[in-house]
Amino acid sequence: MSRNPHHKLHVMFFPYMAYGHMIPTLDMAKLFSSKGVKSTIITTPLNSKIFQKPIDVFKNQNPSLEIIDIHIFEFPCVQLGLPEGCENVDFFTSSNNPGRENIAFRFLSSTRFFKDQLEKLLETTRPDCLIADMFFPWSTQVAEKCHVPRLVFHGTGYFSLCANYCMKVHKPQNKVASSSEPFVIPDLPGDIEITREQIINSESEMAKFLLDVRESETKSTGVIVNSFYELEPEYADFFKRFVAKRAWQIGPLSITNRGFEEKAERGKKASVDESECIKWLDSKEKDSVIYISFGSVACFKNKQLVEIAAGLEASGASFIWVVRKSTGDDDKEEWLPEGFEERVKGRGMIIRGWAPQVLILEHQATGGFVTHCGWNSLLEGVSAGLPMVTWPIGAEQFYNEKLVTQVLRTGVSVGATKHVKNMGDEIISREKVEKAVREVLAWEEAEERRIRIKKLAEMAKAAVAEGGSSFNDLNNFIHEFSSFRE
Ligand code: UDP
Repeated sequence: MSRNPHHKLHVMFFPYMAYGHMIPTLDMAKLFSSKGVKSTIITTPLNSKIFQKPIDVFKNQNPSLEIIDIHIFEFPCVQLGLPEGCENVDFFTSSNNPGRENIAFRFLSSTRFFKDQLEKLLETTRPDCLIADMFFPWSTQVAEKCHVPRLVFHGTGYFSLCANYCMKVHKPQNKVASSSEPFVIPDLPGDIEITREQIINSESEMAKFLLDVRESETKSTGVIVNSFYELEPEYADFFKRFVAKRAWQIGPLSITNRGFEEKAERGKKASVDESECIKWLDSKEKDSVIYISFGSVACFKNKQLVEIAAGLEASGASFIWVVRKSTGDDDKEEWLPEGFEERVKGRGMIIRGWAPQVLILEHQATGGFVTHCGWNSLLEGVSAGLPMVTWPIGAEQFYNEKLVTQVLRTGVSVGATKHVKNMGDEIISREKVEKAVREVLAWEEAEERRIRIKKLAEMAKAAVAEGGSSFNDLNNFIHEFSSFRE
């Protein structure tokens, strides 16, 4: 097909309604927009409000760039058997109620309701491609019917995608006697060991759903990956060779956010004054502060929070600790040891709610990151050149931990051993928290680790700069999809 030089590429983005998926999708839309591509983000009424402010900030700062549109799909929660207003994973994960697992799957299944709306939109708008979330496997078929190429966005990196693939092919988890017995993931480069309790239970509804995800991926046009080649070259090669038809890595996407306001608005929910937070960090010495956050979903019970508090206090380190507290009975502030706030005054900051994470990670006073290994957080930590304490909780986070501790060797594990369904299933002791924090912040012993992660941070910046691997992949993608149309 010949290429019309006047045709402007139009990419549609369709993220799953969870912060960990919406945030990188918006980063992606901004990145495409900065390349002169028209971007449309599909979402629901309540989620559109989350996107609007950061899009306005982006528009004000880049008046000459292509606009990012929002297209709203109806999502009638009550009709779908969900509570009124339940349009985002945040709705049911911000409380630690025992039914949250059930709602989570009902919520996920309900998104099939978008099918007809998507078909109509693709037919009437005819975008050049649809970058739809992994959680919408049915979108491959819809896009195919409308002759629109569908790309999958998993939101995770190559390493876990490859590990997952090898597990699906070989099923080594079925050959071990106990759920805590380690085994090597067959075929995956690096002799990576894992246990059955560190992966999604293969009998669960989720595991079955992930089979659909895999099938839809094989039928889709390809995969967009938020990673950069130099971070996980062996796994990027493996993925392209064995797992997906095509893949383009265009990350780290968080680097798209350049100014203070843009970074502060990223996924923002009213919580803390980011200038106050930065002022506090300004008063601290270089690399002296540990930042502790478990992402946008995890919500620990009091008995775990008490251990974290005690571990932080004993470590002697300065810290910023983001506490996403459960509501309901567990809501009383019994999670702080007696007199804790008084004793750590000046050296500890607790953020109850949402933190301006990228701003904190990039601050020179921040010297380490305790993370649940959500892929966005992990990549943001890498981009900021921070050694990590890894504390995976669920999803693909144990794979991500292995990447950090065994492949990149830029972090230490706190010692979490299994997926936790209920956030009190495995309590990590204060001693383990203290030890890991000390180890990561220590200078002499940790110097090589720090050198390695600083190098990776440099590579991350180079990847998205002109001529870098992600920069080139993005250009190749745009070029290829522009030439589909006459
Ligand atoms: N995040 C943030 N402030 C918070 C908590 C999370 O800015 O207080 C952002 C974080 O920077 C990341 C995303 O939310 O971009 C969380 O995604 P991740 O993949 O790390 O974990 P998830 O929330 O999906 O478990």
